[in-house]
Amino acid sequence: MDQKFKIPLHKPYWDKEEEKAAVLALKTDTGVGDLRFSKELSGVVSKLLSVKCVLPTSSGTTALDLACQCLIEPGDEVILPSFTFSSCANAILLSGGKPIFVDIDPQTYNINPQKIEEKINKRTKAIMVVHYAGMAADMKSIQKIAKKYNLFVIEDAAHALGSTYFGQALGTIGNIGCFSLHGTKNISCGEGGLFVTSSNPIAKNAEIIREKGTDRSSFMRGERKKYSWVGIGQSMVLSDILAAIALAQVKKIKKITKMRQDIAKYYLKQLKPLSGQIDLPVVSEGTNPNWHIFAIRVEKSKRDKIITGLRKAGIEASFHFLPLHTSPMGQKLGYKLGDLPITESVAASFIRLPIYPKLTRPQIDYIVEKLKSLI
Ligand SMILES: *Cc1c(COP(=O)(O)O)cnc(C)c1O
Repeated sequence: MDQKFKIPLHKPYWDKEEEKAAVLALKTDTGVGDLRFSKELSGVVSKLLSVKCVLPTSSGTTALDLACQCLIEPGDEVILPSFTFSSCANAILLSGGKPIFVDIDPQTYNINPQKIEEKINKRTKAIMVVHYAGMAADMKSIQKIAKKYNLFVIEDAAHALGSTYFGQALGTIGNIGCFSLHGTKNISCGEGGLFVTSSNPIAKNAEIIREKGTDRSSFMRGERKKYSWVGIGQSMVLSDILAAIALAQVKKIKKITKMRQDIAKYYLKQLKPLSGQIDLPVVSEGTNPNWHIFAIRVEKSKRDKIITGLRKAGIEASFHFLPLHTSPMGQKLGYKLGDLPITESVAASFIRLPIYPKLTRPQIDYIVEKLKSLI
């Protein structure tokens, strides 16, 4: 979204519908959360994903915070990939838990199930998976491990709204799913998120934590005469004004996803001649992807030069996650370079290319041509 690039990395697909929705929300309501647009948003997403409870949150990060506050107690360990956003590890730490990083699969960039079991001990409480780029993690194996050791599964589906895994919506396979509606995500209202679960006890607990530790949600449904402070909580609710924009976006999800799928298909076709020199994205088993990210891998020694070359040509190519375990905070937690070799090697060879619904064929041709000349 950087103005200096002719072709930015990402552009939200906002149009007349979103403008109308925002104005309508401003005119009709106070903008506080859980009014008509939030309720409609929950209803539409609940149907779309086939999940019982959908709570709009102020961000994907808050949804992850809420998930951890529902399930994690001080001293609990949570297993997660290091190739992800700080929000994942923060959510665990904020609830008193300890993040345990494991390595990823070099093709899907998702947590490697074979590395999970060796990290499980009596303090392990949950596995937090990230469906990187909207490609499903190996949920069959992960669910099997979770069952065997009686662990919760939290899905960071921030990238994955609109992706399915053997027909099931990502974010609805584990106990809790967390989506992001951030300005860089496929479906966006600027800042926002969604917490989803089909577990009644988790939903009940989440409702209270999300509403400043009160039973206000139950009061709003007319189940009680007054509401009061019943537990520890935060303010995690999404404004109804943003919910109105999110709702307009979600109503277009089929169209947005299809446009991205067509772009990815075209990219893959045009990049095929380079497949000996670069790694193209791989669709993970069972996934019908939403193509949130389109990333390639190149030789580490050439990576930075290629990114600089593309950026000079007005193309906002970019690296992605710097592994959490090698970050300053990761080091404070006791991790060091060399602990997770696949994660480190993927992160160092990674290039994200622009992808957004309005990216045109001639623009893709231009990106591919520049890439070829740089490689
Ligand atoms: C974007 C993102 C988040 C955080 O979402 P926000 O809505 O920006 O708070 C969490 N996890 C991953 C993997 C993300 O990409």
